[in-house]
This record gives sequence, structure tokens and C-alpha cells, in this order.
Amino acid sequence: MATDLAKFAEKNGVKYFMISYTDLFGGQRAKLVPARAIADMQEDGAGFAGFATWLDLTPAHPDMLAVPDPEAVIILPWNKEIAWVPANCVMEGEPLKQAPRNVLCRLIEEAAAEGMHVKTGIEAEFFLLTPDGQQISDQYDTAAKPCYDQQAFMRRLDVIREISDHMLELGWNPYQNDHEDANGQWEMNWDFDDALRTADKHSFFKFMAKCVAEKHGYRVTFMPKPIEGLTGNGCHAHISVWDAPGTDAKTNVFAGEGSGQTGEVGLSERGKHFLGGIMKHASALAAITNPTVNSYKRINAPRTTSGATWAPNSVTWTGNNRTHMVRVPGPGRFELRLPDGAANPYLLQAVIIAAGLSGIRSKADPGKRHDIDMYAEGHTVTDAPKLPLNMLDALREYDKDEGLKETMGQEFSAAYLKMKHEEWNDYASHFSSWEKANTLDI
Ligand SMILES: [Mg+2]
Repeated sequence: MATDLAKFAEKNGVKYFMISYTDLFGGQRAKLVPARAIADMQEDGAGFAGFATWLDLTPAHPDMLAVPDPEAVIILPWNKEIAWVPANCVMEGEPLKQAPRNVLCRLIEEAAAEGMHVKTGIEAEFFLLTPDGQQISDQYDTAAKPCYDQQAFMRRLDVIREISDHMLELGWNPYQNDHEDANGQWEMNWDFDDALRTADKHSFFKFMAKCVAEKHGYRVTFMPKPIEGLTGNGCHAHISVWDAPGTDAKTNVFAGEGSGQTGEVGLSERGKHFLGGIMKHASALAAITNPTVNSYKRINAPRTTSGATWAPNSVTWTGNNRTHMVRVPGPGRFELRLPDGAANPYLLQAVIIAAGLSGIRSKADPGKRHDIDMYAEGHTVTDAPKLPLNMLDALREYDKDEGLKETMGQEFSAAYLKMKHEEWNDYASHFSSWEKANTLDI
């Protein structure tokens, strides 16, 4: 029996619902609906003009209805009269196939039909900036190696503690918070969960971190490389596959006996093939995991002032070693270090499942394990592809990857590629100061 949102409002003193959906570029869009109107909205959805957001629609399209998922409702811990509820987009009675949450829901069903239930945890790194976004919020946070800086942490304790308190209250089981590797950068971790739940939490975390920071007079950014020369915002994903969803999960399908180099680091045969799919589709899936022009300033970056970028530049995997695109830190799971803070929470999970499913179906081999320091010895690796150097290369790789496009859905893939190519064209027509500096006197 689905949660009745009207009764939920009555019981919890909720006065308004924020019905929210996420567009192709990761923008969160919402309508604030008084509780008195929620019963109808739960049935029919809230109406939006989809064209006005980043979706491949025209002004002539009919209303797009955002139908709330009542099981995912969250009361804002900092404003308890308002509840946020993610929605699935519907048009003329059918799920809108290009809408990111729909893409993920469909892939979760496909994986479940093959007995696979993907669980993920994500590490959504962010910077605390001044409200104008021009500099980090703490002018004294200048250490050359600021990672885990205890004193800098205390100067922003109010913000980080408040977000952590909210996660505790929401039952997300947060377990650690730290000052990250760049000046002004933070990471907060909570327990892994089913892919859709993690995507909803990821969305809500971004919303919550921004709201709390604004309250304290700061600004949060998840931009992949907001400050030149400093470590960028990654969004590492930890992936495992289980025999059942939610609390019914008993067996980690990735754990257990495996063969070859993946078996040595604790991955089962299915784990090996899932990883094989990630490796096979890596250059293409970068168009989703690293979706902006700025994303490519984080991967393939020169060394940062802290000594390392902590971001990959080649399609390689290894054991417990953070210098590769994929790290297998222990038995039964692996960490994809490619995604960045701009990744759309729903498409990130969707493309991991799509690539993994493709790998399992084709019994893909992840290739050789490289047990080296990629930052120091990467130049010695000649048998691994380099990651795309820019967004256009990534989009072209995605467009070439018929298997991934098909698994993600042709309608979604066409819409995404169209909108992202338009964005690239807009960027390419932008006149930059670099051009003048390097061309004026030629
Ligand atoms: Mg980190």
C-alpha cells in the first residue's frame, strides 16, 4: 500500500510538498504544493512545461506531469512544515522516456529481472565558497596539504555538523565527515543503499548542503573543478550487486570465488563481468559521469598543489590503490573514481547499471590489472585507452557506443546527445581570454 501523502501531511504537520524532478543536465525543478492539494497531485502529478527546463521538448508539447514517488518523501529537517518528494515524469499517460529518474527505474527493473540488485554508495565532494562563488569561504584555509585539517574543520563545524545532524535524523547512517584534499573542500559519507534510494539521497544531499550553507552565509558547489590548481570535486561510486533489494538482500553477488586477476582481489565471476562492462564502456559513459565542459579539467589534470589530483586519466583498474579509474578496495565491491560532482544523480546510477548489465550479458573481461602508481608511472601503460580529453570527445564516444545507447534507451540517448551537443556548441562559440593571450601577436 503506497503512502497516502495527504494522511502523511496530517500526521506529520506538513503544510507543503515540494514536488521535484531532475532534468537532463541535473537541474532540480520543483513546485511547492499546499497539503490541501496533494491528494490530486499524488494521483495526477504536478504540471510542468518541460521545454522550460533541460529536456528535449518543445513549447508545443502537452503538459509534463511530475508524479511524486510517495515512498521517497523526505521532511526537510531544517523546515519541518515542508516535505520534498522526488517525482517521475509522465506525458499523455506514459513515462517520459528521456527523464533521468525514469531511465534509472527502468534499468533497475531490467537488472532485477536478471536477478541483480545494485547497491551503491557515493562520495559527493563539495566546496564551501563565498556567496558570489569567487573564492573559498575561509581565507585562512591555505595549507599546502589541507586534507583532514583539524583546525580548518573547526572553523566550519557549524555547517558540517548541521548537515550531519540532518542525515542522522533522516536515518541515513552517516559515518564520517572530513576536510578534503583541496582548500575549502569537504566530504560527508553515509551508508550505501539500493541504487534508486542512493540517487534520491544524492539529489537531496545536494539540495540540503546548499540550503544549510546559504543559511550560514556561504555557497556550496559540486562543480568538478571550481578552482584552478586545486583538487576537484569527485563523486566516487562504490558498487556491489545483491540477490534481493532493500533489507531482503542477503548475498553479495560480487563476493565469493572468482577466477584470474579479479578473483585475486575478491570479485566473483559476475563481479568480474560487471567490472568488464564498466571498463568496456568507460570512454562512452564518461559523457554521463563527467557531463560538463569543466569535468575535463578534473580528469586528465596536471598535478595539483596538494600533490595529486585524485582523479583518473586512463581506463585502468587495480586493487586497493587510488590512482586508477577503478579500485577494488576489498572483496565484493569496487569503487568507480571517474564520476564528478556534476554527474546527474539518476543518470550516474543508470549508466553504472547499464554498463554493468552489458558486461554481464556479454561476459566482458575487464582486462589486465595494473598494480602501479598511475600518477608516477602512468606513462608506462601502453595498453589502456586514455579517457576523453573533453566533453565533445566524450559525447562522440557515447554516440559511437550503440550497445550503451540502446541499454540507456534510444529516446533518452538521442535527447541527451542533442541537448549536450547544443551546450558544447554554445561553449565553443564563447570567446575566451586564452585565445587573445595566445593569438593576438601571431
Ligand atoms: Mg574524497
